[in-house]
Amino acid sequence: MAQVTAIMWFRQDLRVSDNPALQAAVRAGAVLPVFIYDAVIASTASPGSASAWWLSRSLAALNKTLGGRLVVRHGDAAEVLDALVTDTGASVVCWNRCYEPEAIARDTAIKQQLKARGVQVTSHKAAVLFEPWELLKPDGLPYKVFTAYYKRGYTSISAPAIPASTPIKPVTDAGVSRGEIEALGLLPGVAWYHKLAPQWQPGEQGAQAALQRFLDQGVANYREGRDFPAVDAVSRLSMHLHFGEISPQQIVATSRKHPVNKRAGEEVQAFFRELAWREFSVYQLYHFPHMQTRNLRDAFDRFPWQAHPQHLKAWQRGQTGYPLIDAGMRELWQTGFMHNRVRMVVASFLVKNLLIDWREGERWFRECLLDADLASNCANWQWVAGCGLDAAPYFRIFNPLTQSQKFDPDGAYIRRYVPELKQLPNKALHAPFQAKSTVLAAAGVTLGQTYPEPIVDLAPTRERALNDFASIRQARA
Ligand SMILES: Cc1cc2nc3c(=O)[nH]c(=O)nc-3n(C[C@H](O)[C@H](O)[C@H](O)COP(=O)(O)OP(=O)(O)OC[C@H]3O[C@@H](n4cnc5c(N)ncnc54)[C@H](O)[C@@H]3O)c2cc1C
Repeated sequence: MAQVTAIMWFRQDLRVSDNPALQAAVRAGAVLPVFIYDAVIASTASPGSASAWWLSRSLAALNKTLGGRLVVRHGDAAEVLDALVTDTGASVVCWNRCYEPEAIARDTAIKQQLKARGVQVTSHKAAVLFEPWELLKPDGLPYKVFTAYYKRGYTSISAPAIPASTPIKPVTDAGVSRGEIEALGLLPGVAWYHKLAPQWQPGEQGAQAALQRFLDQGVANYREGRDFPAVDAVSRLSMHLHFGEISPQQIVATSRKHPVNKRAGEEVQAFFRELAWREFSVYQLYHFPHMQTRNLRDAFDRFPWQAHPQHLKAWQRGQTGYPLIDAGMRELWQTGFMHNRVRMVVASFLVKNLLIDWREGERWFRECLLDADLASNCANWQWVAGCGLDAAPYFRIFNPLTQSQKFDPDGAYIRRYVPELKQLPNKALHAPFQAKSTVLAAAGVTLGQTYPEPIVDLAPTRERALNDFASIRQARA
């Protein structure tokens, strides 16, 4: 009897372990592993230059694990799959679910098309602990408040059983060319990304190593340490999760089994709470797909945002004159990553001190972040701006100076990314513009020359933001 060929369509699940769709394909027959770089994946998985670099490396890692057998295509996913089914005689196609609205629309159409050809299609849960439709309020509507959502699903989460992977039987002679990852055009002509390679390990092995390192060294101090950007207390798993190089089920199961779970269970639970924030972002985008571009609170449609290209540029380049902001924006540029505490502070500064529309910030993050993720990025920008579902109140405005003194007290983070201020004593480091001229001179700092003067004053811009906010509230009343 001729062997069944099953296409495993990889998308944001670039791993072989704990991969339900891959296991379904293995059970069905000989596996043809396929990755298609289509318009949807370009806008969801790799929406910017940094994430495109990660995708190219992650695909290379997956291809290596698959013994060089990954079939790579560039084009419309429906057409590519149709052609592959014709060329290989595949009768089964398996994939893991994605939750962005454009991905759902694509997958629904492809499922219908393949089924009409008599091809069996299976889709699976692999990126979340709970599907967005699994946790609903008693009235059947989605939660709008994180704490209620979290309590419903995540507080007593036990270690999920991870099925052992069965070896993949690859299609040996698929009769189709493999294609080249390099030909997908993921990397730009100017090789700026060389600086990223020594800092990160994209792929499944890198994901497992990051989790292990975090459980061995970081999580025991997570609740407090996670707020300090110079302290190595966070997991740096966001890129790996975004590309599906590790599953949340694997993270929970491995964490529960690790000795730290007995010693410091509350720290581990605090970490799971952040995984729940990730899933709450997926949940919001699923239930409120317009949040990619529109304020979730309509009142903000009237907010008088300022268009100020020079301020935006200064913010993007880390030249605002506020050292913590500049350190964060330069960390982003140099590493493709930014610590969560600093993401909140720089976002608040853009929206509430520069009064620039959150969508400008979201766009820049999308371009520069290795973990750029439609759901998490939009949800967090809307959260900071105050226009999101369970958002920070608009009047809560992060003060970059007090945040800096509190969370980078000895200035280690600022000194790493703003080296021109390195010689300043701690007292002057957080606000060089308040330092005596003799202190600046002794540290070799000349404001306006070696380091910028602040581009705005905090107090009046804060006042202006609060007034603007009051005006949109009154207009609604
Ligand atoms: C303005 C802004 C934009 C952001 N944009 C993104 C983005 O594009 N992609 C992205 O993955 N995260 C985004 N975040 C959330 C968060 O900053 C990162 O997930 C986190 O810094 C990643 O570092 P980590 O893996 O070390 O986190 P850890 O502290 O180790 O947390 C573990 C995991 O939980 C998830 N997580 C943690 N905090 C959040 C959060 N606030 N929202 C959603 N998930 C969270 C991540 O998957 C993370 O890997 C954004 C936050 C802000 C304030």
